[in-house]
Amino acid sequence: MARIVQKYGGTSVGDVERIRKVAERIKLTRDQGNEVVVVVSARSGVTNELLARAKSLCDEPSDRELDMLLSVGEQETIALTAMALHGMGVDAVSRTGAQAGIFTDKVHTRAKIQAIKSETIEKDLAEGHVVIVAGFQGINEDGQITTFGRGGSDLTAMAMAAAIHADKCEIYTDVDGVYTADPRVVTDARKLSELSYDEMLELASSGTKVMQSRSVEFAKKHNVVFEVRSSFNFNPGTIVKEEVSYMEKVVVRGVSVDKDQAKVIVSNILDKPGTSAKVFRALADANVLVDMIVQNVGRQGIANLTFTVPQGDSQSAVKLLEPVLDEIGGGQIAIHEHVAKLSVVGVGMKTHSGVAATVFQALADNEINIDLISTSEIKISIVIDQDRADEAARVTHAAFELDKIGD
Ligand code: ASP
Ligand code: MG
Repeated sequence: MARIVQKYGGTSVGDVERIRKVAERIKLTRDQGNEVVVVVSARSGVTNELLARAKSLCDEPSDRELDMLLSVGEQETIALTAMALHGMGVDAVSRTGAQAGIFTDKVHTRAKIQAIKSETIEKDLAEGHVVIVAGFQGINEDGQITTFGRGGSDLTAMAMAAAIHADKCEIYTDVDGVYTADPRVVTDARKLSELSYDEMLELASSGTKVMQSRSVEFAKKHNVVFEVRSSFNFNPGTIVKEEVSYMEKVVVRGVSVDKDQAKVIVSNILDKPGTSAKVFRALADANVLVDMIVQNVGRQGIANLTFTVPQGDSQSAVKLLEPVLDEIGGGQIAIHEHVAKLSVVGVGMKTHSGVAATVFQALADNEINIDLISTSEIKISIVIDQDRADEAARVTHAAFELDKIGD
């Protein structure tokens, strides 16, 4: 007998027919003699609908009331999933985040899990129930409902798996696993059988949004091995863990494109200590996530600063920086929204040279101009023209022969 946590995302429980299918899979897992804890998301679209209703009534709904509202989406699906199981003769009980003992800090709409008191779940399991836990929500010490930020049901699954020492954590979604590139863009992309936490994190932050990044960070920290797989078929998915067997052999594991980036250029600023600090402090204080940064030191004590931010933040970046320019002695700001970030990811880069040269050559051969470059131990990111982004993904994927990666 094994202990299994299964998490089903919004499309997997999108309507009653799909909920019935999910219940069949849960029953199958149960009939194989396993203890099963299931975490579900809200039906796809429901969280957005609730948010839209909130905003139609109030320009800035309070975070407490938002949590009260948004947590409802998951409560619908836990009850329906439990009922579907009852209809099949399976013993099941639904639990809200609070009932499951998920305690968080006091920050509404992006709460952090502080502890899981798993006594209730343990008791439910001991009594022979399948337990269906509402994703994305918890309770704080004041008894208030909190939520974990968009995509937060993944985090519930990881936290449950860690708390009850599950043997397996399966993340069911609408794709077969993690691919070497987006299969809609790169038609010969391959499904990866294994991936390390670090690679998964880099891919998640580079535009491959299979899972919430925070949940992957949590899994890494608590060593939760998980599998990303489809709820629409029985194909094996992608197993994500610390060490993977191919690590030495395969240098690059994936190529991703993020079109939700804008480039901000702050030009003709004084080249003296403290200038960059003031610019980036203003952005940091407003929670604007800055990704790539390049500074060209110009002539005669004048410099240019270029960086990228999420597209939705570019206008507010300009507003934040205008007063800073006055403070630092002048300069100009321009935004380019028609850019994309291409990222090449693989842990093997740590020990192999020539990866950057191969990417640059592939782009050069296709006359794709490189705008900005940044690197980490396991990733190279390049900003290019948005119109060339898909083509860039295809030529880079081909240059590393990712279509030949064996499953
Ligand atoms: N329902 C929440 C959302 O849509 C949480 C989740 O689905 O993971 O973001
Ligand atoms: Mg999700």
